[in-house]
Amino acid sequence: MSEVLDRLKNAVGAKGFSQDPAELAPHLEEWRGKYRGTSPLLLKPATTAEVSAILAICNQTRTPIVTQGGNTGLVGGQIPFHDEVLLSTARLNRVRALDPSGMTLIVEAGVTLAGVQQAAADAHLLFPLSLASEGSCTIGGNIATNAGGTHVLRYGMTRAQVLGLEVVRADGTVLDMLRTLHKDNTGYDLKQLFIGSEGTLGVVTAAALRLYPMPEVSVVGFAALPSPQAAVALLGRMQAATGSMLSAFEIMPRLALDLVTKHIEGTRDPLDASAPWYVLLEATGGKDANLAATFESALGAAIEDSLVADAVVAASGAQAAQLWKLRESVSEAQKREGASIKHDISVPVAAIPAFLEQAVPAVQQIVPGARAVSFGHLGDGNLHFNFNSPRTGGDPAFLAQWDAVQICVHDLVKQFGGSISAEHGIGVMKVAALPRYKSHEELDAMRALKAAFDPNSILNPGKTVPPVARL
Ligand code: FAD
Ligand code: ZN
Repeated sequence: MSEVLDRLKNAVGAKGFSQDPAELAPHLEEWRGKYRGTSPLLLKPATTAEVSAILAICNQTRTPIVTQGGNTGLVGGQIPFHDEVLLSTARLNRVRALDPSGMTLIVEAGVTLAGVQQAAADAHLLFPLSLASEGSCTIGGNIATNAGGTHVLRYGMTRAQVLGLEVVRADGTVLDMLRTLHKDNTGYDLKQLFIGSEGTLGVVTAAALRLYPMPEVSVVGFAALPSPQAAVALLGRMQAATGSMLSAFEIMPRLALDLVTKHIEGTRDPLDASAPWYVLLEATGGKDANLAATFESALGAAIEDSLVADAVVAASGAQAAQLWKLRESVSEAQKREGASIKHDISVPVAAIPAFLEQAVPAVQQIVPGARAVSFGHLGDGNLHFNFNSPRTGGDPAFLAQWDAVQICVHDLVKQFGGSISAEHGIGVMKVAALPRYKSHEELDAMRALKAAFDPNSILNPGKTVPPVARL
């Protein structure tokens, strides 16, 4: 093994690796402390050629390797659980090209999402992917997880933003697919295979991304509602009123707002009366669009029709940021409140009210008093269907129910025709559960792809693709 490590070190030079425990430590544990791993070597290649050399050595010597971007993944995909070599993309951090008239951007995999957004903004263009982790997560990680976030409603998931990719295959071969074309039907669209493959089929080293005109006007509102049914009805109305201008439609229950105002400094309830549910909604458009007036009158009509109990529309950018902070702080507030059991599920948008009606009491039957904090991207049918323990602080007895709660929730999700991972991926967290929810035929096709692209199973082994069940 030490001979292999020496070859890998030689491939990247002195600046390209570390075995210093202090430098490795932050790469071996994720931010929640939920997953922890070990690794004999952190590789930090600075070029595609170095990534290629690394993978060629790993493949020849059957040395497993885990790729890591910003280490913000929520399903443990980026953690080396079996003492694998770790490949960090942090030094693949160049912006290679920007074409303002074609509205495309070519960046390397280790550029942070915030860095990509900034590079676009510098040219007065928009890169629409937006996650609470954007200061740390990388575009390579976003692509590997097909990340979602708060603007999927208008712009689609990461997949929709990718025009081309540069990928290093398991044997070190470089697939240069960095085309900036909007139309290209020359056979299989290979880049799609790597998007959402969580580092199991190849290492993304660079991406050609699609940019959009920077919106000149942004209208942000926060509405109190009696029920999820009312929220789904409001979504339909706001979409009809604003055309395709609605860019976010995020739901949260009263308890989420209570936890945020309790734990997060500088936040307050923006409305006078309390309501069971809240929606943060945003529409964006060009300079001449009469968007604010349309948005406000549609919200006003919803109040008249008792669909909405009360609402506020931000009068300034600072107020809009305060409203967004309420939504973006829910995870952090949940964490500060204490133990929680979490799910990242999707069902058809219209089925959300019925799903909540069944799933919340079903969980509370398993854990009496579990506090439902179901929030998230209602416009995409995606809920972070979470529960806090009945009491504040750590609660091992509550967390011991995780598996029972998860099976109950995921079985219901299946009944509703939904997905057990809407945007976070499979990683290690859900790999054992996947066979319960995906057909044999789909799993076999996934295994065939894995075997074709990574025949020696060196890339992120054990993640995402369930092994064949032993009888
Ligand atoms: P990592 O965590 O380092 O890796 C994630 C996976 O991608 C691993 O399997 C890894 O092996 C693989 N990988 C990373 N880089 C590459 C590469 N270059 N080539 C091949 N494989 C690679 N996710 C959402 O979808 N929507 C959200 O709204 C959202 N909000 C979040 C909020 C917070 C506060 C946090 C902490 C996370 C959130 N996430 C969200 C999850 C996470 O930020 C995303 O999954 C993100 O895309 C991961 O990027 P990363 O660079 O941190 O990847
Ligand atoms: Zn989310």
